[in-house]
Amino acid sequence: MNPKITDSPVAAFGFDSAHCFIGGDWKPAIEGGVLELENPSTGERLCSIARGTQTDIDAAVVAAQTAMQTGWGRSTAVERGRALQRLSQLVLAHVDALAQIESLDVGKPLKQARADAVALARYCEFYAGAADKVHGETLPFMEGYTAFTLREPHGVTGHIVPWNYPMQIIGRSVGAALAMGNACVLKPAEEACLTALVFAELASQAGLPAGALNVVPGLGSEAGSALSAHTGVNHISFTGSFDTGVKIQTSAAQSVVPVTLELGGKSAQVVFDDANLDAALPFLVNAGIQNAGQTCSASSRILIQRSVYQTVLSRMAEHYTALQVGNALDDLHLGPLISVRQKDIVSSYIEQGSDLNKVAVGQLHEAAANGYFVLPTLFADVSPNHVLAQEEIFGPVQVLIPFDDEDDALAIANGTPFGLVASVWTNDGGRQMRMAKALRAGQVFINNYGAGGGVELPFGGVGKSGHGREKGFEALYGFSTLKTVAVAHG
Ligand code: NAP
Ligand code: MG
Repeated sequence: MNPKITDSPVAAFGFDSAHCFIGGDWKPAIEGGVLELENPSTGERLCSIARGTQTDIDAAVVAAQTAMQTGWGRSTAVERGRALQRLSQLVLAHVDALAQIESLDVGKPLKQARADAVALARYCEFYAGAADKVHGETLPFMEGYTAFTLREPHGVTGHIVPWNYPMQIIGRSVGAALAMGNACVLKPAEEACLTALVFAELASQAGLPAGALNVVPGLGSEAGSALSAHTGVNHISFTGSFDTGVKIQTSAAQSVVPVTLELGGKSAQVVFDDANLDAALPFLVNAGIQNAGQTCSASSRILIQRSVYQTVLSRMAEHYTALQVGNALDDLHLGPLISVRQKDIVSSYIEQGSDLNKVAVGQLHEAAANGYFVLPTLFADVSPNHVLAQEEIFGPVQVLIPFDDEDDALAIANGTPFGLVASVWTNDGGRQMRMAKALRAGQVFINNYGAGGGVELPFGGVGKSGHGREKGFEALYGFSTLKTVAVAHG
């Protein structure tokens, strides 16, 4: 299936992109609204999507509740695993089409979009295999009793997803929730919902019963807030910005609904003078510019020990000047940012660095004129308290900060309100362990950074980066609830 760049790039899948997927059917938004999508590489119109509102969310929640009472809710763990395995195979069979759609919609270079589609299949595969391997325990208790725990689904889970890695984030949250037997209502970002819609179609083809997965595109302020405040939803998984996370937790608190928040970061890589710089260099640059820096776990701060500071600086600068930026379908190092709004935000951060030592920028591919492009920009000698070293920029901007010793490095690395990911480059085994324990982050990498997407590795933040863990087996505990049963039998 090869989507044509016609009215809708999802047309090849046989449904209209301006529909919601509710209770196993494609339906226009009940109030009839549509939103126009654009291709961020060109600024041109791409297609229309449904503008779901409260009434569509209500219908999706009812469909999910019905699925919990009927087919999906009665399925066994092994049946759920097999359905996810079929879904994984279908995603793999459509990787090229999914990658093209994502490149057009979100502006990802094709290689990155392809990697995201493969990761989506891998999440489905991982959670397919895990579905029948999560269980309760028997508990030692009083004489004459048998006590045990049951691990049960929450019921209806709400999934609110951002635009930066739609396929990966859907895979990790919806995949784990379905494996545990929940029925899902997914609200993708309005700027990036096409692959979510294709995923719903593939889920239907994989034989997921009606209502197990529902997708309602629309605005955060309409469909998103309706979902997070819905009294029929039993758990919310949110990935996105800090400000929206606070709103979602506040509204879910009114019905005491548990929330997982995956928010932003200001992740540091710490380079000591005994590090293997040849190994470190590609990770130092790529972790900042991948997906044009629109990555929650982007490494936007590079802390370098003074004795190797100039060497790392000049080698990173060399990498930067070779970086090519252009149309996502041209598959260069960086595509555009998602929107003109995001371009303005990132450009204004770069302006705030006008007092800094701007050591290198990338190059704009000559054919790419009209998209939302920002050149990757490297700043050196940045004070740890500068706004560019403290705030999440969510664009291709990295700052280099020198440090003296381990204590100094730790104070700087831990010196923001965030705590998502950190990495340490050193060959000193003792230092590796001390740093791994002392760094304030949900994930710490030693002599690598965010390697391989980490489907198997629990992921999440501390501080303003959020709470709760997704990915790996840990996510299955978050998407389920534990019931204790004590039987008195004499
Ligand atoms: P965002 O504005 O918070 O949006 C995220 C999602 O929430 C979108 O689906 C959005 O809908 C929806 N939303 C917006 N307002 C809402 C409301 N009042 N109630 C309910 N839902 C609402 O974030 P973004 O700009 O898309 O993404 C960038 C941010 O996400 C960055 O801060 C980044 O660090 C963070 N992020 C974190 C992770 C992680 O795993 N930790 C991953 C990716 C991104 P619409 O967009 O459709 O309006
Ligand atoms: Mg788009």
